[in-house]
Amino acid sequence: MEKRSVSDIANLLSKLTHNKQVYVGYPTSTDFDNQHSFELLNHHLNNIGDPFNRPTCFGTFAHERAVVEFFMQLYHTSVENAWGYVAGCSTEAILYACWRYREEASNKVILLSSEYAHYCNAKIANILGIRHQIIPSHPNGSIQIDALSEVISAAPEYSYILVATMGSTITSSYDDVAAAKSAFLTADVEYFIHLDGAFDGAFLPLVEKYRLGEYFTSVNVSGHKFLGAPMPSGILLIDKQFVSGEYIQYINNDDITIGGSRNGLTPVLIYNTIKALNSQAGMKEKYLACLKKAEAFLLTLQQHSINCWKNEKAITIVLEDLPAPVSQKWHFPQYRNRSTLTCLPKFTPQMLNEFITDALNPDAIDMARAKQFDYQVESL
Ligand SMILES: *Cc1c(COP(=O)(O)O)cnc(C)c1O
Repeated sequence: MEKRSVSDIANLLSKLTHNKQVYVGYPTSTDFDNQHSFELLNHHLNNIGDPFNRPTCFGTFAHERAVVEFFMQLYHTSVENAWGYVAGCSTEAILYACWRYREEASNKVILLSSEYAHYCNAKIANILGIRHQIIPSHPNGSIQIDALSEVISAAPEYSYILVATMGSTITSSYDDVAAAKSAFLTADVEYFIHLDGAFDGAFLPLVEKYRLGEYFTSVNVSGHKFLGAPMPSGILLIDKQFVSGEYIQYINNDDITIGGSRNGLTPVLIYNTIKALNSQAGMKEKYLACLKKAEAFLLTLQQHSINCWKNEKAITIVLEDLPAPVSQKWHFPQYRNRSTLTCLPKFTPQMLNEFITDALNPDAIDMARAKQFDYQVESL
């Protein structure tokens, strides 16, 4: 039994290690070490309930609160005005915000998001039983405010959720939430703006002021993207007035999150990750190093006549019309004719050189180095 699980894990590890060499596009950090937390895997951890209300026997609420409060600081708010929790992923965090607003809205709700916003918005609208409408984006990915104004002024009888993107997956574009807010005010419609900062939301507020409650009412940031936690998560912050829980006697806590039982390991690992990065100061250093790398890598790619560009503050490079075999080997997201490279620490100059060689000579790509999907385990 012990022997079998060891060899199955070895197969999995071999796939993961191999794939790291071609993992250049997705905005997921892989530079972390959780050796010091191994012991926690021998404990039951469950963050059922409200991290800010009552304690729980097997929970890690102190870590969860510290993580949420860290992001509250980043977004210039506090527990007086906001509430938050560590959701299972960013989709859940966005769903939560949209759900809470739908409960408060006076009219039927329409969820708006741009062409370059995340695919989860359509699913969230579907789950909540509300309409979803896509607003055109500018070529760089950011939402067209004029088009937004047109849509909302044509149907002022609705309440609107705008899921604005702070770092779209493909172009790392930023929607102008200040302009979106004034569009809603001008059209005189009821609205709620959620800011989706899954990736860039962990670093952009370090160089630009983003205050929860000013132009947006809730925000999400992924724990597994820029920060680098091994498992997916989404930190949610939301204006307190939209949150309500119900006391449940048999868990002796409030039912306030989407999940009941929740992963208690994640907040500990996110907490450790932020500590290891040296909090805001270190995260800013990490971002500035990534930005410098993105600018240098962009120049190198362009010097090799590879068609690419990036948004000014982004650490994501957008490539246009890459030859198909390149995407069979390397692991990056694609949308229409665009692909991305994300200049996190995991993306090294050696990888860039190999990538350029492949992009310039796709027929000679060594497919033995291509990303692997499958691995074997013994059946149970
Ligand atoms: C990754 C991402 C999401 C979804 O995150 P999940 O954790 O996969 O649910 C949402 N929005 C943006 C901009 C993203 O990059």
